[in-house]
Amino acid sequence: MSQPQLQFDLAVIGGGPGGYAAAIRATQRGLSVALIEKHGAQQLGGTCLNVGCIPTKYLLDSAKTWHKLQKISKRGFKATKLSFDWQTILAGKNQLIARQRQGLRYLMNKHHVTVFAGHGSFHSSCSSADPHQTGYTIVVNSQNSAAPTTLITARYVILATGSQIKPLQILSQHQSTHIYNSDEILNIAAVPQHLAVIGGGVIGMEFASLFAMMGSQITIIEAQDNLLNEFDQQCVQELLKYWKSFKLKVHTATTLDKITPSSNTNATTSTLHLKTQHSQTTITADAVLVAVGRTPATTGLGLEHLAIKTQASGAIGVDQFGQTTAPGVYAIGDITPSPALAHTATAEAHLVVDHLSRPNQPPQPINYLNNPLAVYSYPELAAVGFTAAQLNQRNIPYSTAQVPFQIMAKATIEGYPEGFIKIHSHPSTTEILGVHIVGGRATELISEFVTARALETTLEEFAHAIRPHPTLSEILSEVAAQGLGEPVHAP
Ligand code: FAD
Repeated sequence: MSQPQLQFDLAVIGGGPGGYAAAIRATQRGLSVALIEKHGAQQLGGTCLNVGCIPTKYLLDSAKTWHKLQKISKRGFKATKLSFDWQTILAGKNQLIARQRQGLRYLMNKHHVTVFAGHGSFHSSCSSADPHQTGYTIVVNSQNSAAPTTLITARYVILATGSQIKPLQILSQHQSTHIYNSDEILNIAAVPQHLAVIGGGVIGMEFASLFAMMGSQITIIEAQDNLLNEFDQQCVQELLKYWKSFKLKVHTATTLDKITPSSNTNATTSTLHLKTQHSQTTITADAVLVAVGRTPATTGLGLEHLAIKTQASGAIGVDQFGQTTAPGVYAIGDITPSPALAHTATAEAHLVVDHLSRPNQPPQPINYLNNPLAVYSYPELAAVGFTAAQLNQRNIPYSTAQVPFQIMAKATIEGYPEGFIKIHSHPSTTEILGVHIVGGRATELISEFVTARALETTLEEFAHAIRPHPTLSEILSEVAAQGLGEPVHAP
């Protein structure tokens, strides 16, 4: 090992919402921090900023605007020849990403986080002695072969390398310009006429919603019996009820057998051969989105030098404080088995930095039941706490109250009259156990319940809070009152 070794208290591998949040929090705690990101300081933000949460939400918001514009005549506006410029929409999304990346660079400078560009991995010397005492050696290999390899030593290491797209095996040999993964479709040249979405999970459903609102015909193909399996299925059915107004078809319990070029003269379409347990069918689409999941990005990290094992899913197992089996080595975010969400990665970043920087004050472990889930489709879905199925499985008694958005004038004023809010509470203590929302602003409204769950709030306490009138949030008071048997507006 001839290169000089740069010494830090902490090395963080991966600059996504887990990694950069951990780096900032650690410097706030007085640690010296090296942040290693294979795309370099110019492209921090990970999956979330570059190809995930932020670009999809920009495009979804544009699509919602377009969808709302289709209905403006109902509000008395007259506009002829409405049209959109897809390239300008894409450019706006790219500008937002660039601005946010710049913001992260500023934050790294402000907090004195030293960013190294390159692929980080444990050096083979980590297998000897007690690296937690002497420092783990991390090798940073620049993508630029002319740039030297850097060696970093740190007593603590946080692995935050995220996830990568899971390919669909049957498509591995298929060369087609109109089969996209979730990264590629973010820059699709034009809104497709007919988009086939393989995978009815959150990512597939958000893209289905986006392009349905932009006017595409959509076919969703999902191998399981349900779409959005982890969500309350009554909420999902309500979403699909609204989606009947789009050109949309859903095939559940269906798999893709193969894709062939269409036999008609139009070479830009593909024929998808679909299979259920008892039947086969074909559909033709001019674009196919493959959204069948993501796998933890652990390849090439040198985990074998520390005997850190991965689980069958590829994830790195951790304890309640994010610790791996190697002392002083933590893992957070999408490479762990916890929900693959940006806010979860950030919460885990804060947990592990609390743990390593304050050894005499162990932090409160994360209660993953209180980790909100969200789908930014139109209407939106959001949930926190138990589903009815989970409560039944655990034999926890519960009562359910449900209120439709249409009873609130503000829902109609804002153009979001569809959907409902459903709350499960304990029948004797009235503690709020789970909340499920489908509606125009579900992803914003859920946050009040996140706080309520964290504080173990009862329906009485929740109903007692005064909310401004007129707002959508008044429905929160109403559903709590409904749960207590004293609704004002609810039917
Ligand atoms: P990542 O964000 O994946 O960051 C990991 C970083 O590590 C990357 O920058 C990568 O380049 C780097 N890296 C990997 N290996 C190495 C290495 N060996 N050396 C150096 N660097 C390395 N979540 C939400 O909460 N809300 C949403 O609305 C949402 N929408 C999404 C939409 C899409 C289309 C997708 C794909 C995901 C979405 N997610 C959303 C999920 C969210 O993006 C992830 O959960 C989150 O980014 C995980 O953060 P992370 O820090 O664990 O990893």
